[in-house]
Amino acid sequence: MKDISRRALLKGIFATSVVVGFDMAGRSWVTKASAAETFAELPPLDGTLTTDPAALAAVADDFGHIIHRTPVAVLRPGSVEDVVKVVRFARANNIRVAGRGKGHTAFGQSQAQAGVVIDMTALNQIRSVGPDRAVVDAGVVWRDLLLTTVPLGLTPPVLTDYTRLTVAGTLSVGGVSGRSYVHGAQVDNVLELQVVTGEGELVTCSEAENRSLFEAALAGLGLCAVIVRATIRLIPARERAQTQRFFYPDAPSMLADLRLLIGAERFDHIRGMSVPTPAGFAFFLEGTSFYTSPAELPSNPTAGLHFIPGSQQTEEMTYFEYTDLVVKLIDSLNEAGLGGFPHPWLDLFVPGSKIDDFASRTVAALDPATFLPGSLILFYPFRKSRLTRPMLRTPDEEVFFLFDILRTVPHEAVDSVLAENRRLYEENRDLGGRFYTISAVPLGTHDWQKHFQPFWGKLVSEKRRRDPDNVLGPGPGVFA
Ligand SMILES: Cc1cc2nc3c(=O)[nH]c(=O)nc-3n(C[C@H](O)[C@H](O)[C@H](O)COP(=O)(O)OP(=O)(O)OC[C@H]3O[C@@H](n4cnc5c(N)ncnc54)[C@H](O)[C@@H]3O)c2cc1C
Repeated sequence: MKDISRRALLKGIFATSVVVGFDMAGRSWVTKASAAETFAELPPLDGTLTTDPAALAAVADDFGHIIHRTPVAVLRPGSVEDVVKVVRFARANNIRVAGRGKGHTAFGQSQAQAGVVIDMTALNQIRSVGPDRAVVDAGVVWRDLLLTTVPLGLTPPVLTDYTRLTVAGTLSVGGVSGRSYVHGAQVDNVLELQVVTGEGELVTCSEAENRSLFEAALAGLGLCAVIVRATIRLIPARERAQTQRFFYPDAPSMLADLRLLIGAERFDHIRGMSVPTPAGFAFFLEGTSFYTSPAELPSNPTAGLHFIPGSQQTEEMTYFEYTDLVVKLIDSLNEAGLGGFPHPWLDLFVPGSKIDDFASRTVAALDPATFLPGSLILFYPFRKSRLTRPMLRTPDEEVFFLFDILRTVPHEAVDSVLAENRRLYEENRDLGGRFYTISAVPLGTHDWQKHFQPFWGKLVSEKRRRDPDNVLGPGPGVFA
């Protein structure tokens, strides 16, 4: 702890709730309004550090609406230098720091009890777009990047279903989709990062430079560094999207066709889905082809598939409209007042040899009363050989599935759904599965150790090297 009594100084004051220093004795921030004689000087910032209660409340919540941890300040950085300064200041004053994008993880991952939350959406410039890459600030929203690249005939290879998420937010968890069975996750399509470590050092990293930091930052939950800029791979974008939808009587028959399609690579994007209906859960599969000329469409899209005869549907739209489908869905759910309900989402990576039985049993046991409108189940197929980043932990089989149970639930159902999530997490873990870290699953440090094996040792050594005082990444509780 520092002796700070001699360094009282007021600088960079923008508003009464804007922070100018930290009172070590009272463990509270000093604002212009409360400025006392003795506090740790906060260096002048290009942006603002605020203690405004509304700003604190906004980041003490997330898409899950289950965990609420109130920080003591929110930084809206005006520059990368602000991130450096605040991380150094926090380290010197024993305060924890969480990077936050759109706060769309479900279980407090982006929150910091009595810490500082850095609202990375304030850093949102697209720096450059070239024929095969874009350089963007961490807080750029994928949808805004698409609005720039699609008119140029370019797209990131892998997009999340919902694109109103930040680049660094999804790169801090993985970022997967129905294209991942070909292109890997979003973290596999990053060429370079600029990060601020827990020591407050601005470092450039890539496969060729500071590789261990690069690998710890991608899908790294902000544990070792705050991502401030990323260079992302771009590929040519087609103009249109055609989706074929096929219905099945049960999960195994749908999964069998998903397996066939993994091998065939017939569609650009594939996923399975399930939704509750009055007659029970319906299962269907969607295969989407991106094309400019109709000659690029698959010549025999249904070859070898065993869907319910006559159930096939076809939909056509532009490529951008396709990438925007979930944005429209979320907007309509919010308009219907469903956005404020809890979302205890569960996302499990299940070994391909276990998914048929595990998914069938799990879906059969789900209570439809815990499925408010907008809830659904997704199945994304993966090939392990297309994934390269060690922090995105997945099962040891070449073919595995992301099994997402995405529920919007009544408030009174949260505890029982969280207990069910924990039970399913354990069952899947015991089958050789892993979980996707965006999920709402109550976990202890021992669970995290197991989760990151066999990479845990490397993560710990990178943490010691880059964030020796455990300033960063308090939300998930990996390093308590
Ligand atoms: C409707 C919806 C659809 C989704 N669809 C998909 C999908 O198809 N595929 C998929 O993979 N995921 C999907 N997700 C999950 C989503 O990818 C993650 O929740 C993602 O983390 C959200 O990005 P965000 O900007 O909100 O990040 P946040 O939730 O704000 O942050 C996520 C984590 O990253 C950390 N973090 C944030 N910014 C930084 C930074 N700059 N540096 C270091 N750490 C940082 C946070 O502390 C936190 O631990 C979906 C989520 C929603 C709500």
